[in-house]
Amino acid sequence: MTLEGKVALVTGAASGIGRRIAEVYAQHGAAVAIADLNLDGASATAREIEAAGGKAIGVKMDVTSEDDVELGVAEVVRRFGKVDILVSNAGIQIVKPVEEFAYDEWKKMLAIHLDGAFLTTRACLKDMYARGQGGAILYMGSVHSHEASKLKAPYVAAKHGLLGLARVVAKEGGPKGVRANVICPGFVRTPLVEKQIPEQAKTFGISEEDVVRTIMLKDTVDTEFTTVDDVANLALFLAAFETNALTGQSITVSHGWHMQ
Ligand code: NAD
Repeated sequence: MTLEGKVALVTGAASGIGRRIAEVYAQHGAAVAIADLNLDGASATAREIEAAGGKAIGVKMDVTSEDDVELGVAEVVRRFGKVDILVSNAGIQIVKPVEEFAYDEWKKMLAIHLDGAFLTTRACLKDMYARGQGGAILYMGSVHSHEASKLKAPYVAAKHGLLGLARVVAKEGGPKGVRANVICPGFVRTPLVEKQIPEQAKTFGISEEDVVRTIMLKDTVDTEFTTVDDVANLALFLAAFETNALTGQSITVSHGWHMQ
C-alpha cells in the first residue's frame, strides 16, 4: 500500500491516534498536515516526521471554528498543492450521567465531533471536487458509533451521527471519486482514555483496575486494548484503497468488543 504523491490532512494529530496515523501516512509517502488546537504539539509531531525523512507541517486548527478550518485547509493547499485524504479525528471525552451534563458541555462535544467533521469535510471536498481526482475521507468514529455506554450521552450521539454524515458524503462524492468511511476503534490507551479511568472509578466506586477489566475490556475476545498501530494500519488501508467499492462503510477495530 502506498500513499506516494498524496496529501493528507489529519485533525487532532498532535496526540494519540491521529498522531500515529500521521506518522504511518508519512512513512508510506504522503505529505501530512498535522492540524490541531495544540499548535506546539502539532509542530513537534511535524518536526519528528521530517526528522525521520517524511514531509509534514503543523497547522493550528480548532475544528469547531469555521474560520480556522477554512484558513487551515487553504494553508495546506498553498503549502502542498491539494488535499487527497482527510482524517477527521479530533475529539475529546466528557463522562457523566445525562442529568448532570451542562448544556454547554453537550454542545461542546457535538461541536468538536460533529461540527468539526462537517466543517473539515466541506472545506476539503471543495478542493477534491475542483481538482477532479477524487479523494478519501475518514471519520474517527468509535465502537460507540454502534453501541451505547453509560455516562457518554453526547459522545455516543455524536459518534452515531458520523455514520450518517459519512453515508451522505459517500453518496454525494461517489460520482466524483470521493470515498467516505468511518473507523470504529475500541478502547485505545491514549490521553483521552487515561483520563477516563480514574473518573469512571470514582463515579462507579470501583478500582481503576476494575474499570479496565469489568468495563473497558469486558466484551473483547482477549481483554486487550486496541493500539494506535491497529487503528493507523486500518486508516492506511482505507486511504490507499482505490475504488468506490469500499465507501459508506464503518469498520470496527476493537478486539471483538463490537461485531457487526
Ligand atoms: P487524544 O486526546 O490523544 O488526542 C486528541 C487530539 O485532538 C489532541 O491532540 C487534541 O489537542 C485535539 N483536539 C481536541 N479538540 C480539538 C479541536 N477543537 N480542534 C482541533 N483539535 C482538537 O485522543 P485520541 O484517543 O487519540 O482520540 C482521537 C479520536 O479517536 C477522537 O475522535 C476519539 O473520540 C476517537 N476514539 C478514541 C478511542 C480511544 O479509546 N482512545 C476509541 C474510539 C475512538
